[in-house]
Amino acid sequence: MSNSSLSCMRKISPMQSGRKSHAVTRITPHCVVGQTSVEWLCEFFYSSGKEASCNYGIGVDGRIGTIVDEIDHSWCTSNWDNDDRAVTIECASDTFHPYAVNANVWKSLVNLCADICQRNGKKKLLWLGSKDKTLSYNPKTDEMVLTAHRWFDNKSCPGDYIYNRLGQLAKEVNQKLGGEPAGPFKAYQGQVNADDGLNCRTSPISGNVLKTYPDGTVVIISKEDGNWGYTGEGWVCLDYINKIASAKDPATKEEEIMDGKQFNKLFNEMRQQWRDNDASKYSEAARKWSVDNGLIAGGSSKEFNGMWEDLMTREQLVMVLYRFAQWIGKV
Ligand SMILES: [Zn+2]
Repeated sequence: MSNSSLSCMRKISPMQSGRKSHAVTRITPHCVVGQTSVEWLCEFFYSSGKEASCNYGIGVDGRIGTIVDEIDHSWCTSNWDNDDRAVTIECASDTFHPYAVNANVWKSLVNLCADICQRNGKKKLLWLGSKDKTLSYNPKTDEMVLTAHRWFDNKSCPGDYIYNRLGQLAKEVNQKLGGEPAGPFKAYQGQVNADDGLNCRTSPISGNVLKTYPDGTVVIISKEDGNWGYTGEGWVCLDYINKIASAKDPATKEEEIMDGKQFNKLFNEMRQQWRDNDASKYSEAARKWSVDNGLIAGGSSKEFNGMWEDLMTREQLVMVLYRFAQWIGKV
């Protein structure tokens, strides 16, 4: 069996068991817990020495790499039976709950799953919703089933973002495979995935900018025109919208994801500022605040600086807490 022609590079990891002894009947998507490039993924599984691998890796821009040939048994799911039947796919994701993947990665995941099904003679990808149902199900010769890492190990992988969308994944793949008609358009919730925010325009492509949705905002797309979606206020480019298929409580969800995204952003910003500034001065307000609020014990010296030289890690931590507290309005 061949590898996917959607893959743009092949760097074979030594962390694997050679030929599978079973035919491919499963696909198992995973989350990387990092918005990494495909080059990084290939190199990591090739040379890190970590006893882990996957058949394919999808980098943050959606490009795909082959890390263990599809016909071979990767070390990905903490379960021999699964890895002996599954094509395993690591997807670049956020580092925090719910480990969201961006629209590029999602599109590539859909295309790759469809391609795997086609080349393995499968007409339908199934999501059965639970471990028990899935493992007791005997797939027909033209069926492929989705499985999840969390079923086999004490892990959250593939993260709630992907896990809650496995039904959506099957649906989109089956539409590509031609087994299910696309059906009439239905409004859906989508989340903005663009660090600098997403422009909302009076019309697709070149309309005037009405407003900019901050990263993480949840909008309802009520109609589509090509690669553009209407939010009720104007048009946004769907390259920067992640579909939320099954959000039952969008308000909570949005806030949760915003907090995580914001925390991550502040952390990265803080690290850069830390490099660019005189650390002791830069963190003074944060240290004072954390002592005043009883988060950590202060030093005996009147100056805040004295005791801190050997506590850089703790200092960095309180900076993050401080900035986060500022952001949520607690300081
Ligand atoms: Zn995993």
